[in-house]
Amino acid sequence: MHELPVVLDLIRVIKEEARKRGFQKVTQIHLVIGELSSIVDESVQMYFEIAAKDSPCAHAKLAFEHRPAMLKCQKCGKEFPHKKSFQCPDCGGDSVLVKGTGREFYIRSFDGQ
Ligand SMILES: [Zn+2]
Repeated sequence: MHELPVVLDLIRVIKEEARKRGFQKVTQIHLVIGELSSIVDESVQMYFEIAAKDSPCAHAKLAFEHRPAMLKCQKCGKEFPHKKSFQCPDCGGDSVLVKGTGREFYIRSFDGQ
């Protein structure tokens, strides 16, 4: 359910930007979603189809790009994408989450005509 307000916000922003750029309709929207954001592609798609109805975004294609959370090794300073382990692939040291990574949700770009 938490995707609904996110989707409504997304449509509001796109509509505003589309008007500024003089688009009659939006054809494609490219979204970036962090793996820790707990936002699910399918839910975004579903709410989008409902909420975008009768708006310039109505038939826009959604493209999803996923971003991993990034970890930083506390021993050697290497940054690497979180997969399963918190262990540094270079030196085996312990790592911590790089603040803010993996929680992204934003519009990378969109197209219209
Ligand atoms: Zn390391």
